[in-house]
Amino acid sequence: MRFEELVRPTVRDIKEYVPGRSIEEIAGKYGLDPENIIKLGSNENPLGPSPLAVAAIKEKTGRVHLYPQADALELRKAIGTYTGYPASNIVVSGNGMDGILDTMMRLFMSSGAESIIPIPTFSYYEIATLANGGKPVFAERDPNFYIYPEKILDKVSDSTKMIFLCSPNNPSGNSIPEEDARKILESVNAIVFTDEAYVEFGDTNITRLVKEYDNLIVGRTFSKAFGLAGMRMGYAVVPEWIAREYMKVMTPFSMDVLSTAGGIAALKDKEYLKRSIETVKKGRIQLRDGLRGLCKMYPSDANFILVDVSPRSAKEVSESLLKKGIIIRDCTSFRGAGRSLIRISIGTQEQNEKVINAFHELV
Ligand SMILES: *Cc1c(COP(=O)(O)O)cnc(C)c1O
Repeated sequence: MRFEELVRPTVRDIKEYVPGRSIEEIAGKYGLDPENIIKLGSNENPLGPSPLAVAAIKEKTGRVHLYPQADALELRKAIGTYTGYPASNIVVSGNGMDGILDTMMRLFMSSGAESIIPIPTFSYYEIATLANGGKPVFAERDPNFYIYPEKILDKVSDSTKMIFLCSPNNPSGNSIPEEDARKILESVNAIVFTDEAYVEFGDTNITRLVKEYDNLIVGRTFSKAFGLAGMRMGYAVVPEWIAREYMKVMTPFSMDVLSTAGGIAALKDKEYLKRSIETVKKGRIQLRDGLRGLCKMYPSDANFILVDVSPRSAKEVSESLLKKGIIIRDCTSFRGAGRSLIRISIGTQEQNEKVINAFHELV
């Protein structure tokens, strides 16, 4: 017997998640000094981590022989204060928001169940659906990446268990209007998972609707505005009934000792959060002004800008930028994104300047 055949067929057919490129990979491939490479392909925080978070993590290193608090109550309380909810509405994952997604899919997906995914969007929704035996059903956004609620509702069937909304959407950067979210929430017998990984950089949120809707999950992360992508911390604001079910199936002690300390400290570092958000808001304007006339750009509420480089291909432009030591995201691997979109993370003022100069040299 070939043991590979023991793998569930649904899993065998999954296409791998394509991550952003790493500095190490690009340095090796193009013979560049890692020090001169700027990484604007994964929407990380260009400021580095919060100094308060780093100090808190260091302080706990002598305690890593002990298990963390099983229910992560202290961290959940701190997140609750930040989001305006009691700890009973908060769940966490030590594997980033991706871990939250995975656990939620274990809760709700089963063979034959469907999830609705407005594309192009974050590709892990599709993978998590398939990995848990479900079937992804795609709804296409219009040319400006907006999607009418009706277009999503048209895809609903008796088998729909989950609807994914990403707000602001990765890779397009637009947010979902509150009335659209309400319309979807009120029209379906399904769970609506709203991904707010970038919510801090925009002006609206869907999180406050969790008080009103029993079928709403809002996923959040410490990876972007809080600058802790390497610690892999995710959380979700959910109705209490979902929190209770989640606790049953989550991996025990999912949130580790160091992350917990770093996360609590990062939530207290208001100064850092403010600086993160200001850097992104200023950088968005800087990039938009600097690239004006060179390519088509889409409005963004996030820490990245989506750029259409046609008539060139995204692949060609990414390669040229890589040779100059600039990593951006070629969006060709996003389902439904076509071949001419790239996503540029907002960097420091100096990094944005380099991107703008590199674009001028491309022309
Ligand atoms: C970055 C990102 C996440 C999750 O990040 P984690 O690091 O796993 O917390 C989730 N959704 C979207 C849309 C993202 O871009």
